Amino acid sequence: MKRKTLVVVCCLISLAAALAQSRPAADLIISHANVWTVDKAHPKAQAVAMSGDRIVFVGSDADVKAWQGAGTRVIDAGGKLVMPGFNDAHVHFVSGGSQLDRVQLNDADSPQEFARRIKAQVGKMSKGEWILGGDWDETKWTPAKLPTKELIDSFTPDNPVFVSRYDGHMGLANTLALKLAGITSQTPDPPGGAIVRDAQGNPTGALKDAAADMMYKVVPPLDHDQRLRAVKRALAHAASLGVTSVQNMNPDYEDIAIYSELLDRNELTARIYAAPLIPQVDDQVKIGIRRAFGGPYLRIGALKAYADGSLGSATAYFFEPFSDQPGNHGLLSDEMQPVSLMRDRMMRADAAGLQLCTHAIGDQGISMILDIYSEIQKAHGDADRRWRIEHAQHMAAKDFDRFAQLKVIASVQPYHAIDDGRWAEGRIGHDRASRTYAFRTFLDRGVQLALGTDWDVAPLNPMLTIYAAVTRATLDGKNPNGWFPEQKLTVSEAVEAYTMGSAYAEFQDDVKGSITAGKLADLVILSDDIFSIDPTRIRDVKALKTIVGGKLVYEDGGVQH
Ligand SMILES: [Zn+2]
Repeated sequence: MKRKTLVVVCCLISLAAALAQSRPAADLIISHANVWTVDKAHPKAQAVAMSGDRIVFVGSDADVKAWQGAGTRVIDAGGKLVMPGFNDAHVHFVSGGSQLDRVQLNDADSPQEFARRIKAQVGKMSKGEWILGGDWDETKWTPAKLPTKELIDSFTPDNPVFVSRYDGHMGLANTLALKLAGITSQTPDPPGGAIVRDAQGNPTGALKDAAADMMYKVVPPLDHDQRLRAVKRALAHAASLGVTSVQNMNPDYEDIAIYSELLDRNELTARIYAAPLIPQVDDQVKIGIRRAFGGPYLRIGALKAYADGSLGSATAYFFEPFSDQPGNHGLLSDEMQPVSLMRDRMMRADAAGLQLCTHAIGDQGISMILDIYSEIQKAHGDADRRWRIEHAQHMAAKDFDRFAQLKVIASVQPYHAIDDGRWAEGRIGHDRASRTYAFRTFLDRGVQLALGTDWDVAPLNPMLTIYAAVTRATLDGKNPNGWFPEQKLTVSEAVEAYTMGSAYAEFQDDVKGSITAGKLADLVILSDDIFSIDPTRIRDVKALKTIVGGKLVYEDGGVQH
């Protein structure tokens, strides 16, 4: 080697060394990974470097080495799939967290097992504490008979019990709970509800709809510690599933106070966007905050509204009656009675710059909300509002294009499709069922999708949601090739809607939703490559590690603190 060349080489080496020194080393590197970025400019990579709470580099294993320093933690992903963390666009976080601590009855396959589990729960609780939760399903019993209070009274003399049926439209109370609610043989059925009675007219303990509400009036609200415990359980559950952001529908203000307390202590391990109910609109208007107000871990500035009920309870609001209930079109919610009440609240919210997330399930309920949205647009002019319709289950054919024109986001929960798909066609007929959970049609018409679960109405596990969106295989096994298979999404479409789509739905697509340098370091390492395995196996895939803001919040079965 000539001397001159040697000098040049030496100079280059010292220049590289100087550059490496001037660049701070990353705190965390994931290498040897199959990185699916959801970033159209760079869809795939091998390695990601993170510094503080941000991603600083996405690229090859060779190039990431430049970010490695003495203090860098390196995770060798061993070729596993790395993706942006999931952003669940619709959860009920505190009820989900509370449910995790409560008695689980959904898979109790006999009245004896049902009773045994409640008895076991009594052992974990103190005197006077309510036993709640449940999600029982008597159709799994032979014969399928409603449970009665006699099944559980003997071991619950000191604990009031009110355990719900899985659909949320019925519950079973024990004698003590009935006493606390003042329900006796003399109590008339409330409008919209039924007290199930035996041959002598005595309550059996089973209470339907509005009769169950009589019980909820005496169930004490969660106190501070119970709420805190529920939020911590919910956060740990989310972390274990690779869920790094949640959009919390209908939080109580006390829930937001708990989030704030945990934020203060640096203990939030998922980012939360909270949307309180629209009857409280004037609180946020008064403060003067706008949509997506807050910081990276906690935001408010959205409102959740209700147009109608649900398909399961035959209260979703349709243009035509239910196929199995002539004369019943469903019900508009009390927020829509009169419709001008909803319009006025929404107008006030929009004038203040707040975001609207409206539950609408039946085709007429959805149509009426689109009418209101379009009136607001006429009155207030164009703006980047990112209005949402939550569920958007049963669409009128004429409304897909209106959805797109108004740039309304369809905030959908694919798991409901494989659950309700078992019986929905019997309730609304083939034609309306063909526009039910019409994810493909939404995309084809240019409607933005945001994915979520509605936890705890459905499981929080994103793998079940993707499995549902991709297979549309109903839970009863009767549609292995998909219920209305033309509405299936591909895995990559489902993932994009669950990351970028949900981030867009909360005005955060510039800082999260993809693995891109500069964005928040929220990612998950999965046990299998969901893009290449048989779609039926997606439901069994696990999160191996979950990273939020560059910190490991879950690893192989244990939460990190
Ligand atoms: Zn919900």
